[in-house]
Amino acid sequence: MAVERTLAIIKPDAVGRGLTADIISRIHAAKFQIVAIKSLRLGKKQAEGFYAVHRERPFFGELTAFMSAGKAVVMVLEAENAIAKWRDTMGATDPAKAAHGTIRKELGESIQYNCTHGSDAAETAAAEISYFFSGAELA
Ligand code: ATP
Ligand code: MG
Repeated sequence: MAVERTLAIIKPDAVGRGLTADIISRIHAAKFQIVAIKSLRLGKKQAEGFYAVHRERPFFGELTAFMSAGKAVVMVLEAENAIAKWRDTMGATDPAKAAHGTIRKELGESIQYNCTHGSDAAETAAAEISYFFSGAELA
């Protein structure tokens, strides 16, 4: 296994519900290093660009409105096998189907309001990290 980096987002639903510290505690408990972190509000266009892979899906408008509705916390996480490990820590997209002990199972409200994002592959992780962070922020 190699040391990897992945992009994680605490989505506006979770930030708005005051769950930022709880989720960051879970990140530390799972032994990720937080390489970079920032709080920002995505513009609608920025959210559309970020989730462009889903532009044909029926939920695209709702998803990008939700993601740009309030502050999000965007992070680069590092660990051995970080991409799969963070997806395991989050749990399945739909909180109702997520495994016990995962963030989405314990904190998520619905398939849309599921608290966190995680990159799904090495190529998407690299693209998503550079969507939000410059080289100097990742040193
Ligand atoms: P993410 O990319 O945010 O980490 P994911 O990879 O688990 O989530 P995707 O299929 O990439 O799931 O969907 C992106 C996001 O779109 C979901 O996390 C969720 O917020 C929203 N979403 C997915 N499916 C639906 C749906 N059927 N209805 C409403 N929103 C949805
Ligand atoms: Mg996804």
